[in-house]
Order: sequence, then structure tokens, then C-alpha cells
Amino acid sequence: MAKILVVEDEAKIARFVELELKYEGYEVEIASDGRTGLDKALHAGVDLVLLDIMLPGLSGIEVCRRVRMESEVPIIMLTAKDDVTDKVAGLDMGADDYMTKPFAIEELLARIRVALNRHAKKGSAEPVKTDELEVGELKLNLASHSAHYGGEELALTKKEYELLEYLLKNKNIAVTREQLLNNVWGYEYFGDTNVVDVYIRYLRQKIDDKYGVHIISTVRGVGYIIKDER
Ligand code: CA
Repeated sequence: MAKILVVEDEAKIARFVELELKYEGYEVEIASDGRTGLDKALHAGVDLVLLDIMLPGLSGIEVCRRVRMESEVPIIMLTAKDDVTDKVAGLDMGADDYMTKPFAIEELLARIRVALNRHAKKGSAEPVKTDELEVGELKLNLASHSAHYGGEELALTKKEYELLEYLLKNKNIAVTREQLLNNVWGYEYFGDTNVVDVYIRYLRQKIDDKYGVHIISTVRGVGYIIKDER
């Protein structure tokens, strides 16, 4: 089972997260300051790091930056509510995701699964260079930025196309609203994940509803996924 490092100086939160993670079967390492966190992230053989931003010694942002100089280990930042600067800085430093405190443990667990899964795929997948992505009858041509369903061209806006492309590039992996927001819209929409839901609705109208199929699925508490047909 994966080993998770929790870098958090608030003992109550650290203890709570540790118990929940252990209950799920994870191994857990705890660090209560930035320097210990950095050391364990690099040398304790951990598979994922939960990293608080406000830490004594070294800030979470700085820990993240230094870890990224040496390691690709997935990092989920824990940020104070609505601190947009911290979120942007964390993602700039190479964090994979972030959670706003206070968080629901189920959502944290879901994001941990997503990050571990994504990392595992990244490591094992041979880089396939292709100009076309597809699922079922849906085909995306990356060179011409066009999408077809059953041979019929879909009239998608630029953002709709980009959203669909990102989902298809991550086929069979649940992606969070924040990942979609960051990768498709960039930072100017930071925190406004409603825009993602709105565009998912547009895509569903143009594909799922129009052709009577179910291409884009909702993953509760996480985001969205496009899966290969079973
Ligand atoms: Ca803290």
C-alpha cells in the first residue's frame, strides 16, 4: 500500500488525517515542520505528500519547490480558505493539487487516489505519439483541433474543444475541476470551478444528449472522467 507523508504543524489535523489514512490502509509518515517534511519527502520513500503551506521552519511553498528540484512525487497542498496567492504559488512550484481547509476527508481521500493513479500511469505509460484521440465514436484530431462523432464534425468552441481534449488525454483517469480549470482556462479563473461545470454541460449537450450516449461521467467529490466503453 502507498506511503503518505503528512507535513502539518497542527497536531490535531495531523492526527486526524493520519488516523483516516491508516484506516484506508495507507502507511503514514508525519512531519510537523518544513525542514523535516522536506527531508522525509526526499528520503523516506513516500509515494505522496500532503503539504500544509503555513509551516514553521520552511514554508510549504518552499518545501514544494525544493522537492520538485529532485523528485516527481505527487504533492497535494493544504491551504487556508480562499488564499488564492498560496494556491497559485503552490501550483507554480509544481504541486499536483490542493485542498482548502477545512476539508471533507472523503474528498481528500478521493484526490489522493487520483494523484497516486495519475502518477502511476505517468511512470508506466510508454509515450505514444499520436495525432488522434478517440473513445467510441468520438474522435479528436489534435493537428486540426477538430472533433467528430460518428464521422460528423462537432461544432465546438475553442474552450469546449480544449476541455474535451484534456479529458481525452487523461482517458480513464478522474480529473478534478481545479485541474481542468488550471489546464484549460489558466489562472485568471482561479477558484471559479463553476465555469468548468458550465462547459461540461455544453459538451454534454453537443455530444451525449445529441447522440444519446454517455461519454462524460461525473465523479462525485472529484470532477469528471471519460472512460473507454465497457
Ligand atoms: Ca499550519
